[in-house]
Amino acid sequence: MAGKIRFAPSPTGYLHEGHLLSALYVWAAAKKWDLHIHMRIEDHDRGRTRQAYIDGIREDLEWLGFEYDSYSIQSQRNHVYQGVLDKLAKQNLVYPCTCSRKQLEAENPKSETGEIIYQGKCRNLVEASLPHNLRFKIADKVISWTDYRLGNFSENPAKQCGDFPIQDREGCWTYQFAVCVDDLDQGITHIIRGEDIRNSTARQIALSEAICQASGLPYNRPLYLHHALIVDASGKKLSKRELAHSIRQDKEAGISAETLLGRVMYKAGFQKTDSPIALNDAIDKIAASL
Ligand code: GLU
Ligand code: ZN
Repeated sequence: MAGKIRFAPSPTGYLHEGHLLSALYVWAAAKKWDLHIHMRIEDHDRGRTRQAYIDGIREDLEWLGFEYDSYSIQSQRNHVYQGVLDKLAKQNLVYPCTCSRKQLEAENPKSETGEIIYQGKCRNLVEASLPHNLRFKIADKVISWTDYRLGNFSENPAKQCGDFPIQDREGCWTYQFAVCVDDLDQGITHIIRGEDIRNSTARQIALSEAICQASGLPYNRPLYLHHALIVDASGKKLSKRELAHSIRQDKEAGISAETLLGRVMYKAGFQKTDSPIALNDAIDKIAASL
């Protein structure tokens, strides 16, 4: 095989139409470029994860007909994340931050997207007795990268978010950290995901570079493709309520997989009507568009 791609849902809810579109893209890319498909459950957020969602996502994917070549779940990989954290800490790239949410809001500017740009108040802390998270010291450096669909970007994560947490106060690994460690450790060569996460790419490249450097490994950047999101009839992003509407509810109401696939293909602009479509045909259609 020519590489490896992953589908990485967070089990904080059941599978919804947004996931389904991402999955279709991932399986389409795998078909087009002959990639191994890795299924990764991103349950780093212990507070929002439910076993029922983990089981539900796997069952619903199977019901839809998506098959994968390998599987992992982040909660079973604590030792891997800890090992990487230790390596970064040795390079002096990690520090504890005791700032409260209130302080963070009051003391730091925000980016256009409303994200806090942490100014590094705790950068010189070595040890903390108060509750704290662990932040990654990010270099003040522009990252230039290319998205397969959207073209070139030049972004400086120090200006987008500043030093960001890799482990939160409760000891949970953050999305940014776990995803970088996994993508590297699992040899991911192709990353396809929704446009809503595009903004995280520069910081993930910066962190991945630092992890490789600290581990003495070469860094091969993956191909990135951020696909358009499903929008509602008026062209707006799907609301929380619409996203909460799950594949499972439709399945239990007796709606067929082909009908659901047809709806998603229609909403994503791949077909003119919402007529039912078989999974393989949907995958082929998207593959042809890549
Ligand atoms: N777990 C993330 C999500 O469900 C996707 C992460 C990624 O593809 O990088 O939104
Ligand atoms: Zn701080």
